Amino acid sequence: MNSLPASTATVPLRVVDVIRKKRDGQELSRAEMEQLVTGYTRGEIPDYQVSAWLMAGVLRGFTRQETAALTDVMLHSGQVLDLSQFPPKKVDKHSTGGVGDKTSLVLAPLVAAGGLLVPMISGRGLGHTGGTLDKLESIPGFNVHLSLAEFRRVLGSCGCSMIGQTEEIAPADRKLYALRDVTGTVESPYLICASIMSKKLAEGIDALLLDVKTGSGAFMKDEAQAALLAELMVETGERMGKRVVALITDMDQPLGHNVGNALEVAEALEILRGGGPSDLRLLSLELAAWMFALGGASDSLPEGRKAAVQLIDSGRALEKFRAMVELQGGDLSVIDRPGELPRSNHSLEVASPRNGYVRTIASEAIGTASVILGGGRERKEDSVDPSVGIVVHKKIGDAVQRNEPLVTLYYNSESRAARARRLIDESYQISDAPPGKPRPLVRRVIQASGGN
Ligand code: URA
Repeated sequence: MNSLPASTATVPLRVVDVIRKKRDGQELSRAEMEQLVTGYTRGEIPDYQVSAWLMAGVLRGFTRQETAALTDVMLHSGQVLDLSQFPPKKVDKHSTGGVGDKTSLVLAPLVAAGGLLVPMISGRGLGHTGGTLDKLESIPGFNVHLSLAEFRRVLGSCGCSMIGQTEEIAPADRKLYALRDVTGTVESPYLICASIMSKKLAEGIDALLLDVKTGSGAFMKDEAQAALLAELMVETGERMGKRVVALITDMDQPLGHNVGNALEVAEALEILRGGGPSDLRLLSLELAAWMFALGGASDSLPEGRKAAVQLIDSGRALEKFRAMVELQGGDLSVIDRPGELPRSNHSLEVASPRNGYVRTIASEAIGTASVILGGGRERKEDSVDPSVGIVVHKKIGDAVQRNEPLVTLYYNSESRAARARRLIDESYQISDAPPGKPRPLVRRVIQASGGN
């Protein structure tokens, strides 16, 4: 009998075997990751098999080798931009996701006004957290689907542009992100690292600031997990020759007051006008200062903070935002009259059941309530309602009287409002005595040197 000729070609994997290998806690090879991710991106492997693999990965974890390989495979599933035609340093910021976190809307124009180039490729809402693209789309006409040529044109004209992943940028992450959103497979530091770093490294940036959230509204509720994620991302970025710093920041309560797409744009505009809630302003100034330092636009953090304040006070940051909105087709009237942003038909105040002080807020529940109202997606194919959301009136440490509103829900569907309300009712813990000193907004800084 003739024996088969020996072959050096890669034997195509059986997807089920890769799923079983991860399920059993074994390390996958780069080739296995590549075949799985590439096959899924091309539509050759179905959602249900990749969902099973993702869940096995969430439960079993990935090694550093696997994480590096996965990031690399996802990065090279598309193009890596070359923005060397633009002289300024290219710096971006990415948040791991929170509730009410609208700092990207402030930072892109603010940092561009300070002379750096900010090529921001963002995502949609994920799980209970909001997404920058969904927020931007609440500005009527704002186009987040620019081609890469248009992206370059906007960057060249105003120094910042905010778009979604094009077909060319990390297409593997785009598909996996949408699948993870609806399969309970977001909360893995390894998957989050590969997701964020694959699209950020494709942007052609020199440096990246990471805002790694920790607390009740973050994916990484535990600070040690957040630190692990920060270290993974800093390590991955540095391996690829980029300057990367991660700040571990507080997400024990929503950032600012507004949660929901149009509501968050309105609050970001307040910050750009020099007002807005103090926590959101403080974090925006801190992140801007780091971005200025990373991009060489300032010599120190205090100098960077001062520059950020001046750029807001002089109106230059708001003018940059206006220029970007105009170049991306958005309706400029909402910048001067945020009241013209989409508004829900109904609102409902949720009052405190007793006198006391706000001790804790289950922030994930607040984010989920906003998703339920229609501010995010419960299934991949859902569309988002820009007008709905939640205004958080009482934050941790605030005194509250019985029947005083804790939050206001903005909604268009009674049944959704009833579901959201049930979550809100359970999300506030009110105590007799005020809680201790609040935890700092920036908990730790993680840099390549290991310094923190
Ligand atoms: N943000 C991302 O871009 N990806 C994740 O997986 C989580 C947050």
